[in-house]
Amino acid sequence: MKYSDFSVEQLEQRLGVLQDNYARIKDAGLNLDITRGKPSAEQLDLSNGIDGILEGFFLLQDGTDVRNYGGILGIPEARQLGADILSLQPSEVLVGGNSSLSLMYNMIAHMIGAWEEESRQSNSKVKFLCLVPGFDRHFTICEHFDIEMINVGFLTDGPDLDTIEVMLERDPMIKGIWCVPKYSNPTGHTYNTAAVKRFAQLGKIAGPNFRIMWDDAYTVHHLTDTPDELHNLMQEARAAGTQDSVVMFASTSKVTFAGAGIAFLGTSMDNLKAFEKFLSAQVIGFDKVNQLRHVRFLKDTSNLAAHMEKHRHLLGPKFDLVQTKLEANLGKRGIAKWTKPRGGYFVSLDTMPGIANEVVRLAADAGVKLTPAGATYPYGLDSDNKNIRIAPTFASLDKLGQALDVFVVCLELAAINKLLST
Ligand code: PLP
Repeated sequence: MKYSDFSVEQLEQRLGVLQDNYARIKDAGLNLDITRGKPSAEQLDLSNGIDGILEGFFLLQDGTDVRNYGGILGIPEARQLGADILSLQPSEVLVGGNSSLSLMYNMIAHMIGAWEEESRQSNSKVKFLCLVPGFDRHFTICEHFDIEMINVGFLTDGPDLDTIEVMLERDPMIKGIWCVPKYSNPTGHTYNTAAVKRFAQLGKIAGPNFRIMWDDAYTVHHLTDTPDELHNLMQEARAAGTQDSVVMFASTSKVTFAGAGIAFLGTSMDNLKAFEKFLSAQVIGFDKVNQLRHVRFLKDTSNLAAHMEKHRHLLGPKFDLVQTKLEANLGKRGIAKWTKPRGGYFVSLDTMPGIANEVVRLAADAGVKLTPAGATYPYGLDSDNKNIRIAPTFASLDKLGQALDVFVVCLELAAINKLLST
């Protein structure tokens, strides 16, 4: 039975039970954390073989010594790996340091001068479209560069492209859009082929300085036997002549080591040339030793897929546990709905409007840290105060179970308090 169908007496009775439970939980003095999407220690262990894999051989086939300076675009073998992951030509790929986020930041830093010049001429601010809920760190980059963010929602099967197209037609100062096109953070969406084809046309509406920030962070991170397929945006964009609007990103942060992986940026060759020049003022070359280690360890896409199966083996039970606990405790109550992701790192949960921050507060007071409510929206503002991102990957199965038990009590408590107050 849904809580909205309960009488006041029934709600009050249930509230009493939940308050007792909550008090017991608080007394237990828990200290649990399901905030960020970090790989667990067991997942990191899967890549320990990367350490020492070079065994003193530092020369590439072409004679390059990876220990020395140079080669901003990355070693050819790693560019090939990145190209295979992103379905690009190696000549379109740069292999950077340990973070795709830092490549995204640098791409915006590279473009901001041209955008600000247009901003001065048109007396209108530089703007970005942000699909919401989305990845907080994308939004932080925009805030850092004082780029105004405009929310665009998802429809059931992916981004609301009608709205995106209309907005771009109306406002030439919209200079980019953030996308996580596969197993999106946090909603789990994978954009369908029709959507990808429409994305390839956006550059025609928005003009030459528009950039689609296509953050394909979870492209090989499947949780099922039948992985989602993402249509090739760059292939469509080349055909449409909009290849300069496409900038793709990926990394091995959740493949090998989250703090010591390698990151990829893929874009048109013209863009890449300009970006290489921009980077040359800050770096002589990225860590080619680590690039070579990764190439030796991951080898090719079929070996990479086998490696990711080992991750799935560790992650699958955690994602299953989230579904089981949420369904068992909240399934019939009508106070929350949540995603069942087919890949990626998150479950996105929407509470009934107006209580997400209270749920997070109650959980924190009971020793369970959750991602702050609103973090999945630009400026931290979720106007419905309902979205909570659950990150099940880092905690052990046991701890995750405990955290979820607390979470559902907090959610029920906040919901019943809200229902009783309205
Ligand atoms: N992009 C998305 C969508 C993410 O969720 C994350 C990590 O949480 C990153 C990028 C960070 O990637 P990297 O470690 O390569 O900077």
